[in-house]
Amino acid sequence: MAMKQFKAESKRLLEMMINSIYTQKEIFLRELISNASDAIDKIYYKALTDDALVFNKEDYYIKVTADKASRTLTLVDTGIGMSQEDLENNLGIIAKSGSLAFKKENEAKDGHNIIGQFGVGFYSAFMVADEVTVISKALGSDEAFKWTSSGADGYTIEPCEKESVGTEITLKIKENNEDEQYDEYLEEYRLRSIIKKYSDFIRYPIKMDVTGS
Ligand code: ADP
Ligand code: MG
Repeated sequence: MAMKQFKAESKRLLEMMINSIYTQKEIFLRELISNASDAIDKIYYKALTDDALVFNKEDYYIKVTADKASRTLTLVDTGIGMSQEDLENNLGIIAKSGSLAFKKENEAKDGHNIIGQFGVGFYSAFMVADEVTVISKALGSDEAFKWTSSGADGYTIEPCEKESVGTEITLKIKENNEDEQYDEYLEEYRLRSIIKKYSDFIRYPIKMDVTGS
């Protein structure tokens, strides 16, 4: 399968973000949870005008699972999902507005806390993960696709199996090194405190499960 390249501008931003000594790596979780919440909102609003679609509150949630043995952190949402085209268009390019805002602010400031101020979004996952996998099934489709990337080098998309509509994002959490600690992103108390700090206002239940040792 051919590896696809990110758009030039995305690649630059991604490299900057991954390589910057950014102190608030924890915000990746806020970004992923906000995307999951947005995706559920999209189904909610669709159901308001589409009689064929019923929004049962209990069917909509976000689930965060950490597995220490495999060093994976997984976010599942029952939102609107993404088609192959959506994966290509939404995860292959960093939103223009976002990168513009980033540049502007970068000129004005010393480079501190930029990511915290602007929702750079999905790509912030690469601050804590060496590989990110997104499995998604779009509402109204019976096909699912898997997007995989190890960062600035590019990404692949292939068909896969997924039963229900929604998205599952798996982060392969980086190994600790001399300068940086990543194990904490697999610890339940740490994850709970990040969620409490940034995602307390989310309207959908955030479930949590931690396994392995
Ligand atoms: P933003 O949220 O500001 O648009 P992001 O980088 O966070 O930017 O996300 C890019 C896009 O990818 C989103 O706008 C959305 O279309 C899509 N996306 C990301 N995560 C999900 C998800 N969990 N479910 C559905 N779509 C998603
Ligand atoms: Mg976002």
